[in-house]
Amino acid sequence: MSIFRADKKFERFEDVTPSLLKKEGVKLLLCDLDNTLRLHSEKEPADELQDWVEDCRNAGVKIVIISNNGRKKMMQKFCEPINVDCVWWAKKPMSTKLTEAMREYNYKPKETVMLGDKWSTDVLAARFAGIRAWKVEHRRDIV
Ligand SMILES: [Mg+2]
Repeated sequence: MSIFRADKKFERFEDVTPSLLKKEGVKLLLCDLDNTLRLHSEKEPADELQDWVEDCRNAGVKIVIISNNGRKKMMQKFCEPINVDCVWWAKKPMSTKLTEAMREYNYKPKETVMLGDKWSTDVLAARFAGIRAWKVEHRRDIV
């Protein structure tokens, strides 16, 4: 198996449903932000993102955003209304921040998934951290 190949592929983050997470034994979902949970141009969380985060939370899944984006204030402003912890400037494909999140929130690698849109950062970081990599289609702004 190629280390660049994701374990599962989805069109959008909403396809990662609470029932699937439960079935797969996922308790910690590490999520990329840009072009995964939002379009790069979105300044505020979309309604569907808020609903999805809430549904995952109700299903007992902890979501942490782990982004290579270095704009701390923007990240905090985006994540605050959905009440999700975020890590900025994560330097994926380095796995340091993924491993730190598992340690901080006390989840095992087998309970954890990294969800992102890029194999060169998200999928590889998951591989280095020894966790599953799930990939969504890269979301583009439609002009
Ligand atoms: Mg991304």
